[in-house]
Amino acid sequence: FEYAAPANEPVLSYAPGSAERIALKKQLAAFKAEVADVPMYIGGKEVRTGNTVDLRPPHEIKHKLGHFHVGDASHVKAAIAAALEAREKWANMDWEQRAGIFLRAAELLATKYRYHINAATMLGQSKNAFQAEIDSACELIDFLRYNVHFLSEIYRQQPVCAPGIHNRVEYRPLEGFVLAVTPFNFTAIAGNLPTSAAMCGNVVVWKPANTQVFAAQIIMKVLIEAGLPAGVINLVYAGGPLIGDICFADPHFAGIHFTGSTGVFQTMWKTIGENIHKYKTYPRIVGETGGKDFVLVHKSADVDIAVTALARGAFEYQGQKCSAASRAYIPNNLAADIKSKLVAELKTMKMGTTEDFSNFINAVIDERSFDKIAQYIDNAKNNPAVKIIAGGNYNKSEGYFIEPTIIETTDPNYVTMCEEIFGPVLTIYVYEADKFEDIIHTVDTTSEYALTGAVIAQDRYAVELATRKLVNSAGNFYINDKPTGAVVGQQPFGGARASGTNDKAGSMLNLYRWLSARSIKETF
Ligand code: GLU
Repeated sequence: FEYAAPANEPVLSYAPGSAERIALKKQLAAFKAEVADVPMYIGGKEVRTGNTVDLRPPHEIKHKLGHFHVGDASHVKAAIAAALEAREKWANMDWEQRAGIFLRAAELLATKYRYHINAATMLGQSKNAFQAEIDSACELIDFLRYNVHFLSEIYRQQPVCAPGIHNRVEYRPLEGFVLAVTPFNFTAIAGNLPTSAAMCGNVVVWKPANTQVFAAQIIMKVLIEAGLPAGVINLVYAGGPLIGDICFADPHFAGIHFTGSTGVFQTMWKTIGENIHKYKTYPRIVGETGGKDFVLVHKSADVDIAVTALARGAFEYQGQKCSAASRAYIPNNLAADIKSKLVAELKTMKMGTTEDFSNFINAVIDERSFDKIAQYIDNAKNNPAVKIIAGGNYNKSEGYFIEPTIIETTDPNYVTMCEEIFGPVLTIYVYEADKFEDIIHTVDTTSEYALTGAVIAQDRYAVELATRKLVNSAGNFYINDKPTGAVVGQQPFGGARASGTNDKAGSMLNLYRWLSARSIKETF
């Protein structure tokens, strides 16, 4: 079975008057007219506990979209038991049959449920229509299709035989269950983390972020409609530490597929280490964590390219991407021009609800995040050594709104040049245009992270120098482009250092981690 590389799912424009805009608006209205009662899914059954948490749009916190049922230790244990019960049949099922389920899910998302998943992401996570379309529709669909393609390539790789010797490799799933923990900021990641492991024949316990549950449950429903057997993926909502403690203490724990914060990842890794003697097999630990992503502008840069890379890279989805541009290095020969154009660009970015399609900026995800970002802004306001050159206002009376904000600093080690903020805040440092080599060194050493970065330059020697010297500073490196928006099949995504294990999402490198191969030699 060979599955050729698919085309990327086309991005719909949602232009005024388009059929897709009308359909999406209808779905948004439908979700807002009802109060969803969202269960967990354990062993193919819907589970309601009566212990519920409300779901509210971050941009309209007085509106209740619904609630979800929270589980306790018994539900986490039931999810593990259901996964292990499903394991043997699933692991031994023909790969073609497994692939069929995920390809069908991709088709359902591309057609019947496109507006459901986009509307859920827009309301639940406060993403505008375009950001939702490229994430919850296109990227998720691409993950499902491309992973089938990558896996079919892996399965075909076989060792050579020799006279009298028949060699082969069986790509077995891991012996146990995989825990998938998914972040609020991408619905595509929510879909990818459990399904990529499951596609390889693994069984999964899936814990989404609370702020992502509205979209996550739709993915689960689509997978069930596509034919996913009971127990293969179990969707549970409970506290992260509770789920972690139970899963990591289980002898059948075989791997974690995680996207989230560096701190949580490191804590999980330690707990796994403490439990290492309990496991039947060494668990796979795969994580994509934080970023402090740079845009390095050279004196030869095209100013408009730099401005677009900064405006879109820093502020799309309110900067809540691990890949978002958050520290910019601008040469003094272009600084005045870039800053004034950037500030003008920010003035065109309307802020408000996702239901009004003219808004570019929506709300940040929740109050905790809002308070943390506001604190960084307040600290900058109170620090005479730095200047806020755009934005700086925030308000949480109706929703968690923070203006796109630019801080300028003369200290390349100022806190917002180093720490991940995960919000609409960009910090700019202006350097002496002739000290490009020095600034490359600063870019490399300022942050512990190494997820994404961009160099903006027309001078090919400058591009070459930055590409070579920043070899370990970004797992995804962009030349004359923003550092966000990796496309499945085009730019495998992930970073090293404190940004994760760099097991590139949307590539064979990731899928290998969910396989445990057996070599078989037969002599005649
Ligand atoms: N893959 C996304 C991008 O390239 C970022 C994913 C993340 O924020 O974790 O922008």
